[in-house]
Amino acid sequence: MERTLIIIKPSAVKRDLIGEIIHRFEIKGLQLCGLKMMQLDDKILNEHYAHLKEKPFFQRIKTSMMATPVIVCCWKGVDVVNLVRRMVGPTNGRDAALGTIRGDYSVSVQENIIHASDTVENAEIEIRRFFRTEELYDFEQLNPSVLYAEYEK
Ligand code: UDP
Ligand code: MG
Repeated sequence: MERTLIIIKPSAVKRDLIGEIIHRFEIKGLQLCGLKMMQLDDKILNEHYAHLKEKPFFQRIKTSMMATPVIVCCWKGVDVVNLVRRMVGPTNGRDAALGTIRGDYSVSVQENIIHASDTVENAEIEIRRFFRTEELYDFEQLNPSVLYAEYEK
């Protein structure tokens, strides 16, 4: 089954939204495979945001991501990469629809609460970037037949 990575950014940590955000994925029916608090540094952010290194706001977003420790989580589910991106909403919190995480908790482009992997390929790269193998768990949280029809799994 597919996995994805999310980062609860300093803009959420500072506002005590950690539990709120994790709860959304839990009640949706996604399975938690890994979770930890970590302080990001320049090295890991240079990799993580490499696609933005030519942008004028590159240093600004790295500084913002280092403002507090963050929470990184790995979630598992059918089509979970796209599903989580839709739960998160578009980059600009002001454009994001109400009901999405950014739409409900953010009024900003930069301070937009959460990161989520954008493709299946990037998700696996990002999971490996933020977690060691022994920090990831695969266990039966709930019988999958409660969550999915047999043919969907
Ligand atoms: N960002 C920003 N200004 C921009 C575009 C992006 O501050 O014009 C920040 C924002 O926090 C975003 C992050 O850089 O979440 C990564 O940008 P990306 O285009 O990958 O957006 P995302 O995939 O997070 O929606
Ligand atoms: Mg992105």
